[in-house]
Amino acid sequence: HTVTKPPPNPSPLRNSKFFQSNMRILVTGGAGFIGSHLVDKLMENEKNEVIVADNYFTGSKDNLRKWIGHPRFELIRHDVTEPLLIEVDQIYHLACPASPIFYKYNPVKTIKTNVIGTLNMLGLAKRVGARILLTSTSEVYGDPLVHPQTESYWGNVNPIGVRSCYDEGKRVAETLMFDYHRQHGIEIRIARIFNTYGPRMNIDDGRVVSNFIAQALRDEPLTVQAPGTQTRSFCYVSDMVDGLIRLMEGENTGPINIGNPGEFTMLELAETVKELINPNVKIIMVENTPDDPRQRKPDITKATELLGWEPKVKLRDGLPFMEEDFRQRLGVQKKK
Ligand code: NAD
Ligand code: UDP
Ligand code: UDP
Repeated sequence: HTVTKPPPNPSPLRNSKFFQSNMRILVTGGAGFIGSHLVDKLMENEKNEVIVADNYFTGSKDNLRKWIGHPRFELIRHDVTEPLLIEVDQIYHLACPASPIFYKYNPVKTIKTNVIGTLNMLGLAKRVGARILLTSTSEVYGDPLVHPQTESYWGNVNPIGVRSCYDEGKRVAETLMFDYHRQHGIEIRIARIFNTYGPRMNIDDGRVVSNFIAQALRDEPLTVQAPGTQTRSFCYVSDMVDGLIRLMEGENTGPINIGNPGEFTMLELAETVKELINPNVKIIMVENTPDDPRQRKPDITKATELLGWEPKVKLRDGLPFMEEDFRQRLGVQKKK
């Protein structure tokens, strides 16, 4: 007798006329800061069905409350270190704590999330033939010896330091993505995200922009970690989401830097927050954490040329949106 081979796509319905123009998209980490803004944007397109898988380690249902109950939206409590069996066309794989205090809290879990979590999402992509995008990070460049950072730079990362669970975890995640691409023909996209800020960041997550804004609103001193001359380049979240979607929809695997090249020292950032939000607040110098990168600025030539993308929101224009969101959440009125 003959053995019938199972269809290559496990869900034959996905090939039916009904589904053809629809896109079912999985967003891991979709209850987090960037993920929830990405979900908002994807849901604007009526042809998209969005599934979020998140374990709520640093994210919350609250970030997605406007979509809960929507017929094109589904929220699953799921840890990506466990296998996930669903049928989707695209995977935006964001699940991973991004703030140093959270990723250092349980470093072994951070590595598992990056390595086993990414392996599982690649296994899923392979089984269903989905395209997968990984949100990697500028941290793969470590404390960079090349400035600004281009994608061809291999980085300067401490393999045994307190940040390594995140930096090396993401480096392995990138390697896995390319190995699945070369070995199994999976369609991959890698974004190297630089510091991103905006509404819905965790108020006490320890990242510099959220710290300074919360401190300014609470009349507490802004804590600049020594020496204060270290630099970062901050991208507003709507620009980031636009870049991620362009990368997913485009033809390039990446890695591609997505970030805002406007570079500031932490002292300059503190002065800007003070000027815009609370001119009476003090700025103090506190001790830094180990392995803090001294400078960081993306070279975005590739994003501009290949994706037609560049950031639109300047730091001074983005900070007030975040201030407004933090005021509401902290219950601090603007002084007249
Ligand atoms: P976030 O902490 O707000 O969001 C991460 C989300 O992933 C949270 O909802 C969290 O609950 C979820 N998560 C964590 N571990 C999980 C697990 N094991 N299983 C399922 N869900 C899990 O962070 P974010 O700023 O929105 O960052 C999103 C992505 O972008 C991350 O991959 C991060 O590494 C990357 N990134 C962010 C920045 C930035 O400046 N925000 C910079 C570089 C890279
Ligand atoms: N996986 C998953 N969902 C799927 C298919 C696979 O989570 O739909 C997981 C699977 O549990 C495995 C990983 O992805 O741990 C890698 O899968 P792959 O098929 O590439 O490797 P193998 O299972 O052969 O080790
Ligand atoms: N930083 C600071 N004060 C704070 C928190 C952070 O001066 O209250 C500095 C930190 O030393 C680093 C920069 O701000 O040089 C960015 O830190 P963050 O944790 O926001 O992101 P990452 O280090 O991952 O870029």
